[in-house]
Formats: sequence, C-alpha cells, structure tokens
Amino acid sequence: MIQRVCILGATGSVGLSTLEVIALHPERFEVFALTAQQRVDELIALCRRWRPRFAAVATAAQAREMRAVLQAEGVRTEVLHGTQALCDLAAHPEVHSVMAAIVGAAGLAPCIAAARAGKRLMLANKEALVVGGRWFMQAVHQGGATLLPIDSEHSAIFQCLPDDRRQWPERIDHIVLTASGGPFRARDPRSLDDVTPDEACAHPNWVMGRKISVDSATMMNKALEVIEARWLFDLAPERVRVVLHPQSIIHSMVVCRDGSVLAQLGTPDMKVPISVGLAHPARLESGASRLDFLALQALTFEAADHGRYPALGLAYAALHAAEGSTTVLNAANEVAVAAFLERRIRFTDIHRINAAIVEALEPRSGDADSLDALLALDARARAAALAAVERSRR
Ligand code: NAD
Ligand code: MG
Repeated sequence: MIQRVCILGATGSVGLSTLEVIALHPERFEVFALTAQQRVDELIALCRRWRPRFAAVATAAQAREMRAVLQAEGVRTEVLHGTQALCDLAAHPEVHSVMAAIVGAAGLAPCIAAARAGKRLMLANKEALVVGGRWFMQAVHQGGATLLPIDSEHSAIFQCLPDDRRQWPERIDHIVLTASGGPFRARDPRSLDDVTPDEACAHPNWVMGRKISVDSATMMNKALEVIEARWLFDLAPERVRVVLHPQSIIHSMVVCRDGSVLAQLGTPDMKVPISVGLAHPARLESGASRLDFLALQALTFEAADHGRYPALGLAYAALHAAEGSTTVLNAANEVAVAAFLERRIRFTDIHRINAAIVEALEPRSGDADSLDALLALDARARAAALAAVERSRR
C-alpha cells in the first residue's frame, strides 16, 4: 500500500532530506502535503517537483502569491495558510504519516493533531516534545499514534530496542546519548564571547538548520535531547546519560540490565534515521553513504563536562524541578538563540539568559495541568526572555 506523507517544515534540512529518501521509492510513498513558514519560492519549487495535493504557508498573502504562480503553471496543489491548516493537514484522513520537521515549539500543535488522529508520527521536532512533555505522550497514547524518533540519537536507541515497547522497561539499565561536542569543543570557554553566528553554525559533522546548529554549539541540543529521551523511552533522568564522541559515528547506545551494550553506527547523515522512520519495521535504501571501517579514525569518548557545557546541567535540573520547567527552558532558549542569530546578544548571553529565566519563572501549581496551561507558561517565559535580551543588548 502506498504511504501518503505530510511533511511539516518541508523546506528545512530534515524536510529536504525526507524528500530525498522518498525520491528513491516512488512506488512506496506519495507526497500528500508540504508546508513551510518562509521562503515561498522554495516551496513553490517543491510543489512543481512533487505535485502534492496540499501545501501550507504562514500567511494569506504568501498563499495568494503561491496560488498565482502554481495556477499559471498548471500545478493543482491546493494552498492553505496558518497554524490551523498545519493541524488540519497533519490530521487529514488521507494522511498515513507525518514528518514533524518544523523547528521549535511552533511545531507542537500540528504534532498533537497528528497524535490525536492516530498517525504514524515521525518526530524530528524535539522542541515539541520538550514543551508538551506528558501531554504530548498522552495524545500519542489516546490517539493510538505510532511515535517514531527521527533525531539520530533517539533513532539509534530505538533501533537497539525490540519492536515490542512493553519490553523496553525491563531491558534498559540506562541509555547513553553521544554528543559531538560541537564546533567549540577544543576552545577555551573564556574565548567564546565574540563568536559569530556563522562560526557557531559551522558544525564539524552535521549540516543542519541554524537554530539546531547554535544549540549544538552551546550543547543545548543535547540538553533538549536528554529531555526528549526521558519522554520517548519513559526513563528517569538519571538513566539518560551523555558522553562526548567527537566523530559522530556511534549515534547512541543502550546499556542493558545485564551489562551488554548495544550501539547503532553509521555515517552522520539524517537520511538514515529518516529512512528508518519511513520504513519501520522494514528497511529501505536511504541513499546515505556507507560506513567504511577501514577508513575510520579511532572512535574516542570524553566526559561531557558540565562546566564547559552548562546547558546540560540546566536540562537535568529542569527535569527534577516542577513540571513545566522544561517548557520554560525551551522557550527561553528559542528566544535567546533567535536573538544571537540576529546579532542582538553575544553567544555567551544565551546560557546566561536561559539560566536566569528558569530561575525566575519556576512553574507554580496549575502551570502544567494541561497543554493550554503549558502554552501560557511558554508565552510568559518568552516574554521574560525577550526582556532579558533587551537588557543584555550591546
Ligand atoms: P530548518 O530551520 O532547516 O527547517 C525548519 C522548517 O520548519 C522550515 O521548513 C521552516 O519553513 C519551517 N518552520 C520554521 N518555523 C516555523 C513556524 N513557526 N511554523 C511553521 N513552520 C516553521 O530546521 P531543521 O534543521 O530541518 O530542524 C527541524 C527540526 O528537526 C528541529 O526541531 C531540529 O531540532 C530537528 N532535528 C534536525 C536535525 C538536522 O540534521 N537538521 C537533526 C535532528 C533533529
Ligand atoms: Mg540529535
């Protein structure tokens, strides 16, 4: 049976890699809907190539522009706009699978819509799970959705575990997420004040969107991944550990109850975890280059030093603090990273702002009682972080 796929965030790094994998298997997948926030030209080009039934953009003006171009060319894609359109497409009765590849908390609502509609939900958009936490997982369970991790570390863990999720708790002693250490691993932390957005985005092993690239440089990416793993695999925080592995060949490991360690290896290419998500439980050609063992450098490991990477400490503290703390941390970080990319604050201000906001906005009772309560908390944290950005502007 052909799988109809909705790709949220189709013009991004993960969205485009998803289309590359799908292009190898035209008999198995149909591109049903593609969405994007900016860069309408790129979405138009994708519609020309893929002829999806639907496309969605942010604003009515963008939608009008797209319709005009597509109609003139005879492309019959129906163009929608706005957040509700993303939710409608993610839950569309004809959609089998949703690739959640939007960046940030903006992807939460369509993820919840897909989960409630019982879709096969391929989750790259880690922030959605960090923000939604227990309510995200509840929507998955109540909707009968199949949640498949796309983040390479979580895909690695998933691949090391049996298909029957009921066996996971008895298997796992702990998991080890590997981290490359980012572009500043070998740099004196005191020299990071003046790094530019381009330097922070120059990741040694992966080519990714700018927000996740900055997160990799601050290690907030791994911090978010610790929180993501806590929910995906239902593990207490102390059973999610991080180790530096600069070569990014081992994508993560499961340490079983009996001490046996299972690891997943491969070249650092998102097409592999995307292909696992699209094909599961089968395996399909992904188009990724193969690992050449004889050409490999030594695989090395180092402790993930919380002094050098204080974001990790924030994640564990947030997991132990009142529910909703991870929502606050994510919101502060999204605001701070956007401000850094716009050159409004320094690189080192990102952590300072994140730490200050989680300290200032400790969730109170009721703040995490529903998804709406969490979204209100998210909005308060963003406002507080924006004020902190204004105060620290150079
Ligand atoms: P990206 O910036 O390259 O692409 C983001 C996509 O989302 C674009 O299509 C953009 O138009 C859309 N988008 C952005 N803001 C939006 C909004 N407010 N509403 C609707 N759509 C919006 O990002 P990316 O690197 O592809 O990452 C996407 C997600 O996948 C992130 O959560 C990231 O952490 C995760 N992820 C990415 C990689 C990677 O290799 N790039 C690896 C693991 C996980
Ligand atoms: Mg990752």
